[in-house]
Amino acid sequence: MTAHLHLPLDAVPLEETLRPSTAGPRAEARTEPPALTLERVCKRYRETTALDDVSFAVRPGELVALVGPSGAGKSTVFRCLTRLVTADSGHVAVLGTRVDALRGRALREVRRRIGLIFQQFNLIGRLSALDNVLAGRLGHVATWRVATRLFPDEDRQIALAALDRVGLLDKAYQRADSLSGGQQQRVAIARVLAQQSRVVLADEPVSSLDPSSAANVIGVLRDIAREHRIGVLCALHQVDFARDCADRIVALRAGRLVLDTPARDFDAAAFTRVYGAA
Ligand code: ADP
Repeated sequence: MTAHLHLPLDAVPLEETLRPSTAGPRAEARTEPPALTLERVCKRYRETTALDDVSFAVRPGELVALVGPSGAGKSTVFRCLTRLVTADSGHVAVLGTRVDALRGRALREVRRRIGLIFQQFNLIGRLSALDNVLAGRLGHVATWRVATRLFPDEDRQIALAALDRVGLLDKAYQRADSLSGGQQQRVAIARVLAQQSRVVLADEPVSSLDPSSAANVIGVLRDIAREHRIGVLCALHQVDFARDCADRIVALRAGRLVLDTPARDFDAAAFTRVYGAA
């Protein structure tokens, strides 16, 4: 198959796109910037301090769980990374580009590179799973093709390969709203895969799923992060999932970073530090 013919200039050929990374971790670590970085970030909303001197990074291939009680500042971290809000001080970088000073087209370009996964899936229910995944290709496809939904064959191949990777090839032509919650979230994962994002922000992606679908979805997300060297920051309120599936856990409490630890080290004492005594 000649998937790289006629691809938009900024697109990577299909084989490149969905082929797991093969270079050794050391070689890649030398050349790749962190997927995202917060450095000494502070953000206040009027009299509320939402983030107070927060620093951490997510490296390519890593799934980092962002945990903390309600109001700890997790959403504000996401808003700073997508520049829905601007940090009052400190640096915020995505794929090596400082986003805190960007505007206009440069900001849109960085946002296009961030894959987003939401609690409520954010699929278009009346469209097929495939069309929803193709929506992830929008940044790579000419506007007239989007308007007419005439995506190039190469984009369809990329989208189908992404659905195959999340185990949903047989559902490609099924309406999204006829799929289970877990399947819909896997379509959303396929969408960021087809988007060729190297950084993914997942905001409570399994909160509305039953425990077994939730474990499955987080497992798929983690495996894809590793295979494609995507840095994933995943806000989670289920600490069990964070401990079982994440590589690291970053914890906020009242706007301060209270923990940045390998997930396996998140023990009862760590839990108390983040959430207080039960
Ligand atoms: P989390 O996502 O962990 O629940 P948030 O980042 O939403 O936390 O909120 C952090 C703090 O900032 C909370 O005290 C919240 O009430 C406050 N906050 C968030 N957004 C706003 C806003 N737009 N205006 C005023 N205060 C806000």
